Amino acid sequence: MSDTSPIVLPAELRPSDGRFGAGPSKVRPEAVAALGEAAGSYLGTSHRRDTVKSMVRRLRDGVAELLALPEGYEVILGNGGSQLFWDAAISSLIERRSQHLCFGEFSSQFAGAVAAAPHLDPPEIIESGPGTHPLPHPTPDVDVYALTHNETSTGVMMPIVRQPGMDGLVVVDATSAAGALRVDPSQFDVYYFAPQKVFASDGGLFCAALSPAAVERIERISASGRWIPRTLDLSTALANSRQDQTLNTPALTTIFLFVHQLEWMLSNGGLEWAVRRCEESAAAIYGWAERSAIATPFVVDPAQRSTVVATIDLIDGVSADRVSATLRHNGIVDTEGYRKLGRNQLRVALFPAIEPSDVEILARAIDHIAQRL
Ligand SMILES: *Cc1c(COP(=O)(O)O)cnc(C)c1O
Repeated sequence: MSDTSPIVLPAELRPSDGRFGAGPSKVRPEAVAALGEAAGSYLGTSHRRDTVKSMVRRLRDGVAELLALPEGYEVILGNGGSQLFWDAAISSLIERRSQHLCFGEFSSQFAGAVAAAPHLDPPEIIESGPGTHPLPHPTPDVDVYALTHNETSTGVMMPIVRQPGMDGLVVVDATSAAGALRVDPSQFDVYYFAPQKVFASDGGLFCAALSPAAVERIERISASGRWIPRTLDLSTALANSRQDQTLNTPALTTIFLFVHQLEWMLSNGGLEWAVRRCEESAAAIYGWAERSAIATPFVVDPAQRSTVVATIDLIDGVSADRVSATLRHNGIVDTEGYRKLGRNQLRVALFPAIEPSDVEILARAIDHIAQRL
C-alpha cells in the first residue's frame, strides 16, 4: 500500500455504529424510528397541549427518578442549552460572588462569563492543570460553588461533594455527566445539563434539578428587583416547568429523543446500569491504552479519568490527526481531540448509548491504523 492510498478497515474492525463524538453524540436508531412512528401525531403540534405536555411530564418525572431526587427537589427545563444556563445562573442564582473550579474549557468559560458580569463581585477561581481537577474550599462570602462533574474538554471527572463549611449553593455543570456518573443529590443544589450528550438527543435545551434551597434563591433574586432578561429568569423557567411547559417554543424532536433515551435507561436498570455500562467502555479504552505501545491515558490519576469521555495521548510518531482522519474516512467519526488542548490526542465518548463492544473494536481499529500509517 502506498503512503497516499487511504487505509480501509476490514469488516471485523468496524463498530456497529461509528459515532464517538462528545456532543452531539450518538442518537440511538431505535429512538429515531420511534420518533418517525410518532411524528404524524406529535411533531408540528402545540407545546401548550397534552400531546407535548405529557412528554415534558415524562421527561421531568424520568429525570427525578433516574437521579433519585429527594422530596422537594424540582426538575426544570428551558431553551438554550448549558451555556444559556450559565447566563441564567449569572442572572438568577448568584447573589454576589461565586467560586469556580477551572480545569478545562467549559469550566473556564463559565468563570469568564461570571467575571464579566457588572452586578457581581469578581469570582474566586481555583485552577488546576489540564488532566487534573482542583477541590473546592469554603469561603465566607461565596454564595455559589460552581463545580463541573465531568470536564468534557479534558476527560477529567470529579466527585460532587459539599465540603463542611460550604454554605452557598452547590451548582454543578453536569452536561456530559448527568445520567452516566453516580451522584448523591444531597451534595448539590443545582445539577444542570443538556440532552445532546448522555441523553442521546439533540442540543438546544437545558434541564436542571433544583434543591429547595435553590428554588428559594431563584425566587428571592427574582423578587429582589434585579433586572433579569425574561429568558434568563429561572423563576420563569420554574413556573413554566411546573406546568410541563417552557417559556417559549421548544424543539419537540429534542424532547422526544430525550424521553426515549431516559426511559430506555430506566427500563434497563436506571443510573447504576448506565454508570456500569460506561465503566465497561472506559475499561476497554483505558485498558487498551495502558497496554498499548502507541497510546497512554492523558489523565494520570485513574480516579480522575472520566468514564464518560476518554482522552488518549498518542506517541509522537503516530499523528492523532491522521488517525482521526483515517477513522473518519472509514465512517468512524468525531474522535478528534479538543483543539484548544493542543495535544497529540484522541477523544472518545463512552456515553450509555454507545456499545461497549464498539469501543473495544475502535481500540483495535486504532492499532490497525497506527501500524499502517
Ligand atoms: C457540552 C458542554 C457544555 C455546553 O453545552 P451546550 O448545550 O452546547 O451549551 C457545557 N459544559 C460542559 C461540561 C459540556 O460538556
